[in-house]
Amino acid sequence: MASIFSRIAAGEIPSYKVAENDRYFAFLDINPMAPGHTLVIPKKETDYLFDLDAEEYAGLMEFAREVALKIKRAIPCKRVGVAVLGMEVPHAHIHLVPLQTEADMDFRKPKLSLPAEEMADIAQAIANA
Ligand code: 5GP
Repeated sequence: MASIFSRIAAGEIPSYKVAENDRYFAFLDINPMAPGHTLVIPKKETDYLFDLDAEEYAGLMEFAREVALKIKRAIPCKRVGVAVLGMEVPHAHIHLVPLQTEADMDFRKPKLSLPAEEMADIAQAIANA
């Protein structure tokens, strides 16, 4: 069965999309650590990031870099933090989180739940940046 992230990339499950090309997809984390928290995935389903072949991995990292630059332009922040966990969803993904302080990337903190309209506005701002 397709992972939830494959179904998001295929448009079967709605998401707040921020960027896409033929191989990769970026969308807002549904429960962000900070507004603008984005997930970047390969469309080809692989559980563990470091099981991607070298070319797919390099392509994902370059796509994530482009998305991070968009986040930095759209969301006031000092840096865009990068993390890989994969403890919850078995489809390789990179977290990109706009940071004001180190504490913005503490995965133990309660996550945010933002109104749909705010999520849509954030996604659009990143997509257009
Ligand atoms: P991880 O697998 O890296 O430990 O965590 C998975 C992340 O995906 C979490 O931050 C969670 O909020 C996010 N997430 C889980 N399910 C969905 C979903 O259906 N849609 C979106 N946009 N994010 C999700």
